[in-house]
Amino acid sequence: MEKQDFLDSFPFQLLCIPNEDIVRMHATSGTSGHRPTCGFYSQKDLDDWSYLCARNLGAIGMTKKDVFQNTTSSGLFTGGFGYAQGCTVLGAMLIPFGPGLTSRQLEFFKIFKVTAFHAIPSFGLRIAQVMEEEDIKKDDLYLKFAILGAEGWAESTRKTIEERLGVKAYDNWGMTEAYGPGPSVECQEQNGLHIWSDYFFPEVIDPKTGDFLSYGETGELVITSLYKEAAPIFRYRTGDITTLYTSECPCGRTGFIMDRIKGRQDDMKIIRGVNIYPSLIEEEIFNLSKFFTDIYLITYHTVGVMDTITVKVETRPRIDKNSAKKKLQRNLREATMLGINVIVSDPGTLPRQEGKAIRYQDLRDRKDKFNG
Ligand SMILES: [Zn+2]
Repeated sequence: MEKQDFLDSFPFQLLCIPNEDIVRMHATSGTSGHRPTCGFYSQKDLDDWSYLCARNLGAIGMTKKDVFQNTTSSGLFTGGFGYAQGCTVLGAMLIPFGPGLTSRQLEFFKIFKVTAFHAIPSFGLRIAQVMEEEDIKKDDLYLKFAILGAEGWAESTRKTIEERLGVKAYDNWGMTEAYGPGPSVECQEQNGLHIWSDYFFPEVIDPKTGDFLSYGETGELVITSLYKEAAPIFRYRTGDITTLYTSECPCGRTGFIMDRIKGRQDDMKIIRGVNIYPSLIEEEIFNLSKFFTDIYLITYHTVGVMDTITVKVETRPRIDKNSAKKKLQRNLREATMLGINVIVSDPGTLPRQEGKAIRYQDLRDRKDKFNG
């Protein structure tokens, strides 16, 4: 199955139970005028989903003694309800704050002695920024755990969030078609994501040929749900690029482990014959976090007939822009084998975004020229 099957059968044709037995629907927002991808739930699906999210929170070390602030919206997006339900099953105290209002979120962190939160990674970075702006120290807070997902994020993003917020930050992966969050999470070893192998059967394929790949090889994640009633998925192409392993983890859990998602199949661009994932470029920017802030924009565009990449970054205060630019350019060339344009702006000049950040754009098939 692929995403197109969901879109072609919109809204109800994939249902495997009577409509009256559906108790919930969630959906990806989709762009206006396009069909959203819908997730449908029977009562058993909801119970299973809550249990899987509770497992995820348990795997990162949370217990009923924790106070959990959910910074994602409890609306159509699965992340809000998913972890609200999971937290309730675990028995921890839930604060369903929702997105945005970063300063107010931080006040809640302090007042209610929040020990754990769920966010998209870019909001984790936003919290770190606001702490810096408002001179809030990590020791002013009680945080221990962050569970982050729904966007690709680099290892260096994790380091930044962990250092500035004083938390352990854990990755989790899921998708609306497979309940939402819940199918997988990192344990306290932070060494790949455990896929709950009693609920899902994962495989990896070559995204071009569709051939199945061996464990240890990198390709597109394909997943089969083993218990989902309302709209089960069978060998569903997720579009996410990763590697699967079957090794036992030092935490004692057995079953499938996958690497953190390297990128989306749709996000991979071929620039002058080189496969480029935005995460590769992001990693190099964050490795120079002494020089640059976390705000950047990657643009793929065409100069004459040549595909080109331009990266806009901004420096931290009192950094020599010229030498910072040279460093980044050199590191990007080493990492990608491509000459990449770097445009360095003054601190605070690139736009800040709340919510899911747009960090890359492809203007190669567009007539309007990109002019830096
Ligand atoms: Zn483990």
